[in-house]
Amino acid sequence: MSSFTANEDYETIVGIDLGTTFSCISAYNPTEKKVEVIPLAQGRTMPSWVAFTPEGKTVGHPAKSQVASNPNNTVYDVKRFIGRPFNDEIVKEECKGFPFKVVDGGNGDPRVEVEWRGATKQLAPEEISSFVLAELKQAAEKHLGKEVKSAVITVPAHFNNQQRQATKDAGRIAGLNVRRIINEPTAAALAYGLHNADEEKAGKEKTDKSNVVIFDLGGGTFDVTCLTMNGGVFEVKATGGDTHLGGEDFDNLVVEWCKTQILEKHGKEKAALFDKSNRAMSRLRRACETAKRALSSGTTTNIEVDSLVEDVDFNVALSRAKFEELNAKLFQDCLDTVTAVLKDAGVKNSEVTDIVLVGGSTRVPILQTKLGEMFSGRIELCKSIHPDEAVAIGAAVQGHILATGGKGGGQDLGVSTDLLLLDVTPLSLGIELEGRVMSTLIKRNTAIPCKKTRTYSTVDDWQTEIDVVVYEGERPHIDGNNKLGSFVISGVQKARAGEPKVDVTFSLDANGILVVSAEDQVTGAKANAEIKAEAGRLTKEEVDKMIADSEKYKEADEELAKKLELKSLLEEAIFECNSLAKEKKDEAGVREIENMMDWLELDSDQANYEDMKKKAISLEDKWGVRII
Ligand code: AMP
Repeated sequence: MSSFTANEDYETIVGIDLGTTFSCISAYNPTEKKVEVIPLAQGRTMPSWVAFTPEGKTVGHPAKSQVASNPNNTVYDVKRFIGRPFNDEIVKEECKGFPFKVVDGGNGDPRVEVEWRGATKQLAPEEISSFVLAELKQAAEKHLGKEVKSAVITVPAHFNNQQRQATKDAGRIAGLNVRRIINEPTAAALAYGLHNADEEKAGKEKTDKSNVVIFDLGGGTFDVTCLTMNGGVFEVKATGGDTHLGGEDFDNLVVEWCKTQILEKHGKEKAALFDKSNRAMSRLRRACETAKRALSSGTTTNIEVDSLVEDVDFNVALSRAKFEELNAKLFQDCLDTVTAVLKDAGVKNSEVTDIVLVGGSTRVPILQTKLGEMFSGRIELCKSIHPDEAVAIGAAVQGHILATGGKGGGQDLGVSTDLLLLDVTPLSLGIELEGRVMSTLIKRNTAIPCKKTRTYSTVDDWQTEIDVVVYEGERPHIDGNNKLGSFVISGVQKARAGEPKVDVTFSLDANGILVVSAEDQVTGAKANAEIKAEAGRLTKEEVDKMIADSEKYKEADEELAKKLELKSLLEEAIFECNSLAKEKKDEAGVREIENMMDWLELDSDQANYEDMKKKAISLEDKWGVRII
């Protein structure tokens, strides 16, 4: 693919899909007048994985491919706990499944503990995500031939205030000015609108108003959004889903089933050994994910892991039917969510005109079949935009519209700018009243940006201070909702209970980030902004330090990335040479290659790039393979 022409006058605002499992980056190409996915070192998406080693850190494919030998220092899925407190039940549950350690950072926030450059380090989830973002930024800079300073980053539709703030912080640490946080399904819809506009240009029939359901099932999150599209204007009607449902849950259930198979076939002792080994667990998990993917095209597959523990070569057949049975409840949950969102949106099944599938897990055939059935086979599921790329493309469309200054921008792509103003807030927002009751100011599914004011009073005579405690959630009692923060307004009119009048105002900006203020109508006393400050969990000093750290280690990290890339090429070549040597019945050659395999597995961590290059050249010379 040719690089974009660097257009000095055009401020590129890249679009980033910071996924739980994979990430993708896209940008508007001013020369071609279209949005393109930026090619990465290996392919167009990259695992959102970061690995730490004594030499440095590595991100993406090289990080994922070394997990078996370094499971405790290979970090993934941080999106599952970014912006959540350490004692959150969800965080506790998630952490049980990770081979890496998540600890309380001392202030109630989770920190990932890794061995990095010979020392134990605690890193914020924001920092880990920033490494992924920085890698994507760098790829974009290389491709575009210019510095990339700004981005639009996507988040799941029902990410709360803190999760959005934390994502913004991750961007800042990566050196990006995060111009907007947008919801993933809205981004997918933008990409879809773009695609439709292209089809219209190509002479296809123009449809009037359409009701679109975006079904977005990724690795770790699930979002359903219902929106209307009318002449290029999109209006989100309702959104719902589960921030903890995705392809990895399908993998987990397959892993659990494999564990019963290990016990049955190999006995208690081996099963206990398996339970103790992080390495075995991550190898099995990978094999289960591969099997799941294979079952999207075939109807049966094998889960195979040689030497899983000690001498156990694990091998078991898994059919698509069994996979569907294991996950039946989760699949049903997905469909029930679609029904609930349509109800919220006030749209009947018969009024839905399109279903857009986004996210890798929508490739599971039974989900496609069931969704088709739900709409009586009347609607063809729209898979024409690549499910892994749609979100990043939509984010770049938003970036382009922002770059061209709002109104008018985007016309060259065939979409209106207005659509961006029509997203909704995923959770109701309100304050605590006497008796732990939630008083909602902004209802779920209200279009953003928005501002709402309500007047409240005191509960005690002569009370001059009021605690304003802000929550998000749908429960009538605040106990079931999520506390966002609190502040005190002092100087309230000294009067009998119920007499003072204090206006509380909630302003929700286009990023879905909330600012709360309170003002006494009589005394004019004011308090505000505390919610916002509290929601961004890292202090400016912490963010600045993280930025400085990432600069400090940049060179060493680049060197390591180069080495690991060569290592994976060398691995492939060794397998090829091994077959060649066996074919030629060259016993000395086989031994030599086996030695090299051992070296690669056991000792190559101590080697530098040059050592590895020497090995590669010797293989090239002897066996005629191409590595470098
Ligand atoms: P995303 O977060 O959208 O990148 O989705 C990643 C998830 O999609 C992971 O859980 C993958 O295992 C899953 N996935 C990718 N390809 C397939 C496939 N062919 N069949 C089933 N699941 C898949």
